[in-house]
Amino acid sequence: MDSRVLAAMQPFLAERFGNAGSVHGFGQDARAAVDEARAAVAGLIGAQPGEIVFTSGATEANNAAIIGVVYASRRPDAHLITAATEHHAVLEPCRWMAGRGAALTVLPVDGHGRVEPDAVRRAIRPETVLISIMHGNNEIGTIAPAAEIGAIAREHGVRFHTDATQSVGIVPVDVGDLRSDLLSLTAHKRYGPKGVGALYVRSGVGIEPILHGGSQERGRRGGTENVSAIVGLGAAARLAQESMAEESARIAMLRDRLAAGLAAIEGAHFNGHPRERLPGILSVSFEGVDSESLLLALDLEGIAASSGSACTSGSIEPSHVIAALGLPDRLAAGTLRFSLGRPTTTQEIDRVLTVLPPLLARVRRAGSGPHGVRR
Ligand SMILES: *Cc1c(COP(=O)(O)O)cnc(C)c1O
Repeated sequence: MDSRVLAAMQPFLAERFGNAGSVHGFGQDARAAVDEARAAVAGLIGAQPGEIVFTSGATEANNAAIIGVVYASRRPDAHLITAATEHHAVLEPCRWMAGRGAALTVLPVDGHGRVEPDAVRRAIRPETVLISIMHGNNEIGTIAPAAEIGAIAREHGVRFHTDATQSVGIVPVDVGDLRSDLLSLTAHKRYGPKGVGALYVRSGVGIEPILHGGSQERGRRGGTENVSAIVGLGAAARLAQESMAEESARIAMLRDRLAAGLAAIEGAHFNGHPRERLPGILSVSFEGVDSESLLLALDLEGIAASSGSACTSGSIEPSHVIAALGLPDRLAAGTLRFSLGRPTTTQEIDRVLTVLPPLLARVRRAGSGPHGVRR
């Protein structure tokens, strides 16, 4: 967490502990802080403050959008459109609705992880109530043609939701340009606290709440506001807005430095779109290794990376995102994601480039067969 975010939050965990729903001065102080945070989040995405609903994060925001639109449609035959590379926090609520009578289309992506806008258009049916396509992918960094998809949705009178968790505050995201009706974001991916996020709901778009209780968040999300966390999200949004252009340019340079160094390794293959991508994510697949072994070896060196793969019943499955790109198994099994951000330094990039090649060679030698180690 950015120390400036922590500093902004701290008073609201202790002496300024009013409940934003109370009429007394302590409550009104908390209410003012929540309103200020709401304005900051709205400002970052070109929304009105009243269109922001605070949630416990992007998972809840995605659930609230998907389930909320389906129930608000009152259509027992509601049809949803999403894509194969979505975060589980979109895919799972869509599948959950599909288990309760909704119809679901999961669109494939191209080799760069992009959904074809025309494929979205062709998938629309009279029963379609929602298109949910993420803005920036969390595993490969590919940015979707979201504005085109938003325009198609609008043209057909279908709601458009975008999970912009990875993009907001990193690249310009404007709900007007995207024509999005709903947009999800979370604080902890932007140097804010965990457990708080927001759902943008365009004015006039009705969603059925998933949390029923008090009338907080204009009746769209019951429960006492997590004031300190919301203040943290607001501070994170303001910092992102101030530093986005400069910071993203710096991070993209570091990413390019890392990519250039890794490209020299034999059998390295980069995933994601070469241009339409987030600056801070680099996904690379190495032939002849198992990414879990590589991750463990990197961790011993104090280098934290991710594979995105899941260990299911003893065998390692490549992530659904990498699988959707159509990579051959021998490459998919050796996929690593490096995430760069505000605190990342040139020295750290260079250290990875020094440590990784010999380590990779060692893991490759230890591996057995073309698919590497199988446990
Ligand atoms: C991290 C992430 C989420 C989940 O966010 P939480 O705040 O942890 O619930 C959802 N979507 C994307 C794209 C993410 O990167």
